[in-house]
Amino acid sequence: MVGPPADVDLWRLAWEHSPVGMTQVGLDGRLLLVNQALCDMLGYDAADLSKRGFQELTHPDDLEADLALLDQAVAGEIDTFRIRKRYFHAQGHVIWGDLSVALVRRPDGSPLHFISQILDVTEQRDNEERLSAATAEVERERQALEAIFETVNVGLLLIGADGRYERMNRRHLETMRLPFPDGHAGTAGQLGHVYLPDGKTLMSTEDMPSYRAAQGEEFDDYRYWVGDDPATRAAFSTSARQVRGPGGERLGAALAYQEITDLMRAMRVKDEFVASVSHELRTPLTSVLGFLEILCDRGDLPVDATTQLGVVRRNALRLQGLLADLLQVGQVAEGNLQLQRTEVDLAALVRDAAEAARHVADKNQVAVVLDVPDRLLVTLDGQRVRQVLDNLVSNAVKYSRPGDSATVTLRPAADGVVIEVADTGIGIAADEVDQVFTRFFRGAEAVERHIPGTGLGLDIVHAIVTAHAGTVTLDSELGRGSTFRVTLPARVG
Ligand code: ADP
Repeated sequence: MVGPPADVDLWRLAWEHSPVGMTQVGLDGRLLLVNQALCDMLGYDAADLSKRGFQELTHPDDLEADLALLDQAVAGEIDTFRIRKRYFHAQGHVIWGDLSVALVRRPDGSPLHFISQILDVTEQRDNEERLSAATAEVERERQALEAIFETVNVGLLLIGADGRYERMNRRHLETMRLPFPDGHAGTAGQLGHVYLPDGKTLMSTEDMPSYRAAQGEEFDDYRYWVGDDPATRAAFSTSARQVRGPGGERLGAALAYQEITDLMRAMRVKDEFVASVSHELRTPLTSVLGFLEILCDRGDLPVDATTQLGVVRRNALRLQGLLADLLQVGQVAEGNLQLQRTEVDLAALVRDAAEAARHVADKNQVAVVLDVPDRLLVTLDGQRVRQVLDNLVSNAVKYSRPGDSATVTLRPAADGVVIEVADTGIGIAADEVDQVFTRFFRGAEAVERHIPGTGLGLDIVHAIVTAHAGTVTLDSELGRGSTFRVTLPARVG
């Protein structure tokens, strides 16, 4: 009959199969008995290991503490102890062990030997070290970011997904006083002394950069004025980016506020200068043109003088056109673009614009193709839209090579009209496409080919289209051509 194992058998089973290293250690430190787990841990076989003393297996830096505890046990001050210490593996590397020791005494109380259990915690220790190195790295990074956050001369604001202000740096805190002299409640979209770039129109909640960012928008260089006193107000350019978690979920947004007061003032001075110079030049030029008309009408001038006067008149007219562009740019900058909406036949307007470009197109051997309905009645500012058409069509002709073509398409759309001016001309480099609507911008290809221009036309196009609440976009490929697409919301028919 098989009965339950005796205590001694149980002890032996536990000893042999324990995953924890176990040893019976003599008072001199020799390992009298060792189990398989300890042999595996330290890389010896049992016979070899039991010849050794724990002192030679222990890392010298940990020996003193271990010996002191053993002395205390032998002296009867303690019965057991537990320490974390390093052992040497047979192959020389270090093993971290979690050591528990109990002193076994004879019935008369004198010390007999120690029973030690050693758990291999090397891997745990390595993980702890890696974790603490990573934590230190994160902390260093955090401190570096904190230093940057507080030292940059740009206002920085972090808002949560619900639009609450979570953090801002010192710079932003300082600049908040101008738009919000009575304080800020810390929620995106609070109204204050914040004005659109014209410096006059107060921003609505939907315009506020923090509100837009809280709604999930991302933007760059969003400009506006803050402060109700024109003498002390400041201009800012703001960018926003969404902050997302590892799973792509929105955590909030980060906003950067750069002060650009000097830049905005300088731009205003430049616009005023351009406006006043063009205005001053217009009066004498009108007089020059008037007298030229009179001279050209005289029948008694020699033929060569009449030809030369024709050249003078053409150039004076070109000057007049340039001045008109400059004046218009000045008006746009002032926010003074007033529209006179009437019902016009847009198809006829397109045909007129194409006709006006015909002379240069023929000279450049560029075919102008029209794809327009016979008639399309639309309510908009006909004169301004004609300027848009003139600029786009003349550009299409100007920036094309002999044999290229320019096609103007006009069609009604959902709530207005779409005008497309496509050419097969020189095209625009990809990195310049975003800049063509910027005032005075000229593409490298245009400059290289010495094609005359001022960089004002597309700025005017953009301003007129925007005033109509429309959009103008550009698709272009260098060497293959460009397509400008104007969408104008308007009443059709
Ligand atoms: P301008 O033609 O007087 O230089 P615009 O404002 O009309 O000024 O155009 C700005 C720039 O955009 C031009 O200098 C040219 O580099 C580029 N551009 C405009 N239209 C075209 C086009 N159809 N094809 C190629 N480049 C163009």
